[in-house]
Amino acid sequence: AKEEGNGYYRFFKPSLAPLVEEKMQIDNGLYKALKEEQFSLHYQPKINAATGELCGIEALIRWSHPELGMVPPDKFIPLAEESGFILEIDNWVFREACRQNKEWQDAGLKKISVSVNISARHFFQGNLKEMVERGLADTGLDPHYVSLEITEGVFMRNMEQVIETILYLRGRGIQISIDDFGTGYSSLNQLQRLPISDVKLDRSFIRGITSDEKKSSIVKAIIDLVHSMNMKVVAEGVETADESQFCKDLRCDELQGYLFSRPLPAEQLKELLK
Ligand code: C2E
Ligand code: CA
Ligand code: CA
Ligand code: CA
Repeated sequence: AKEEGNGYYRFFKPSLAPLVEEKMQIDNGLYKALKEEQFSLHYQPKINAATGELCGIEALIRWSHPELGMVPPDKFIPLAEESGFILEIDNWVFREACRQNKEWQDAGLKKISVSVNISARHFFQGNLKEMVERGLADTGLDPHYVSLEITEGVFMRNMEQVIETILYLRGRGIQISIDDFGTGYSSLNQLQRLPISDVKLDRSFIRGITSDEKKSSIVKAIIDLVHSMNMKVVAEGVETADESQFCKDLRCDELQGYLFSRPLPAEQLKELLK
């Protein structure tokens, strides 16, 4: 056809247009979302595997878009990572999580640690130390009640700089977790060089663990190795009682997943701290 050379018509078929439009709408909306307070945090409990007690919470961002409704983080975090806007989001999440935790502590509620997800980008482009120090100073939260979850993506380059930053943060009393462990690029060998507090086993390792012998023996080996390096193991995405029991038998230290609780809005999480 005549239009064949015209890339515009070839790419923007009517069926694709809504998707592209939605992506642009999300991208353009992020800055406004931050300014107009459309973001909020939900908190998912972490459970001590041995005692069953609540031992920490993970802050997870939620976006209530005026036209699109609730936009799940999987839809906008990757876009924000691409554009670099993730640095602003990380900063907002960190401050808000610290502010909220400090408010609960000041109200006399149970003191627990709050975990914040930090993009790998923050290790290379942002000033993570400064962002953390400013957030702590402005909210007054004791850094011993803060944990940062980072992914294996941070190990892709400049390992020395990453180690230096992590050492600094640990020196301030902040805990560091490796998130989604087993899905990325790091090896257990690399882990050994890092002053990490705990490893979060990705959900994909937990699903089907009770029936898949191969999987369970791999998970067992990982857990034993992590323990031998004096780090804790957190099992993510625990959905059934069988999975929970299995993780306990393998001596996971902490458990997180829908079996115990979905991520909760602040007012509901607060009830668990009473
Ligand atoms: P993640 O850090 O691995 O967080 C865990 C995700 O798994 C959350 O999804 C949580 O709601 C979900 N989840 C928890 N338990 C279960 C379970 O038992 N079964 C299943 N199927 N899912 C479970 P969410 O909140 O949609 O977040 C998705 C991802 O978006 C997060 O994965 C994280 O990578 C990113 N993210 C979320 N909030 C933030 C944030 O504040 N900052 C940054 N940088 N990334 C964030
Ligand atoms: Ca996480
Ligand atoms: Ca995870
Ligand atoms: Ca993830």
